[in-house]
Amino acid sequence: MNHHQIVIVGGGTAGITVAARLKNADASLDVAVIEPSEKHYYQPLWTLVGGGMFEADESARNEAELIPYGVNWIKKRVASFSPAANSITTDDGETIGYDYLVVAPGIQINWDQVKGLKESVGKDGVCSNYSIDTVASTWKFIRELKQGVALFTQPAGAVKCGGAPQKICYLAEDHFRRTGVRDNVDVIFTLAGPRLFAVDRYRIVLEQVCQRKKVEPRYRHNLVEIRPASKEAVYRHMDTDEELVIKYDMIHVTPPMSAPDFVAQSELAGETGWVEVDKHTLQHTRFPNVYGLGDASSLPTSKTGAAIRKQAPVLVANLLASMNQQSPTASYDGYTSCPVVTGYDSLVLAEFDYSGQPAETFPFEQDKERFSMFMSKKFGLPAMYWHGMLKGRV
Ligand code: FAD
Repeated sequence: MNHHQIVIVGGGTAGITVAARLKNADASLDVAVIEPSEKHYYQPLWTLVGGGMFEADESARNEAELIPYGVNWIKKRVASFSPAANSITTDDGETIGYDYLVVAPGIQINWDQVKGLKESVGKDGVCSNYSIDTVASTWKFIRELKQGVALFTQPAGAVKCGGAPQKICYLAEDHFRRTGVRDNVDVIFTLAGPRLFAVDRYRIVLEQVCQRKKVEPRYRHNLVEIRPASKEAVYRHMDTDEELVIKYDMIHVTPPMSAPDFVAQSELAGETGWVEVDKHTLQHTRFPNVYGLGDASSLPTSKTGAAIRKQAPVLVANLLASMNQQSPTASYDGYTSCPVVTGYDSLVLAEFDYSGQPAETFPFEQDKERFSMFMSKKFGLPAMYWHGMLKGRV
């Protein structure tokens, strides 16, 4: 049986960052990353791809170039976990053993949970930033719309980067205004939740953004069906269960998401399907040689790459402590960040922790739209991601 000291499931944001930090800490560690994809994507850029600022392929790098030196890349997909036997099985039936396991396979996108979506996305005005295959269609349909209704959706339940459904709405609105068609377009943002943002400090400014831009938020609207032939979006009202239909000329869909099935069906999952880890130490609650982080984890914070940047050093410190028969003492405070793009030159940088209290980086008030923060999102953060975070440096 193939065996490694540390096996990491998933070579995305979390998996690569943890692998790099482990090797930086101790180059002699035997680390393997199990990742089926040839490509790695910097997904935060997809908001700007949808807004026409970058091409989709600018978000991609070859996975091979990102696997840290000395780390084994097992180019396979994990199918199941056997934590009592300290092994995983890949989809071609190979069993791989480990001393320590890090689980980071990201979130699963459930396109088929909205009737008609899978068949229509990428065509006839239906678009989504949530896949490399469909993100280019967002900019195409925003650009083509000269009049009518532009609809944007946010589903019930956890999604990666909770602010992203709004960002593309604000970019589209700004584009309509800058190209002189704004008066002919109704911009509607529908969301299943009861408020625009979980943290009041940023919710207040985003409500003002909607008011100023005449973006109409419709709360408690959960998209359940797309009827491409009649260009209708069908919703269930979250409180009354009433069916509501809105006609669209273009619709950007944020699809429902969940823990990956192979995680949810495993012994590693808690009740909600996510990898059940301690919210401070990131150690599994029942299998002490298993750790988890990132979008697939049960950590009760907004699922972002920025959160992973703070989770990874805690996980690595605690994993190394476990390997030295010490208790894990490093603690993650729930820090997450959401750079809410509000136009082609403005952004509100929301940063907060488990308590919902702002945990801001900069010495100025971050509950304001700022050009400097927009520039940081467009140029600074991608560079920091590729050259700092994925190298285990920041
Ligand atoms: P991922 O980076 O998605 O990686 C998961 C990896 O696991 C993938 O490579 C996948 O191939 C692999 N995998 C899946 N299944 C298996 C399996 N069975 N076996 C082995 N490997 C498997 N974050 C921010 O911080 N700021 C932002 O502004 C921001 N904006 C966003 C905008 C959009 C449109 C999107 C889509 C995301 C955005 N995010 C943002 C979120 C951020 O990209 C994610 O939170 C982050 O990438 C999650 O990292 P992860 O490692 O948990 O999952």
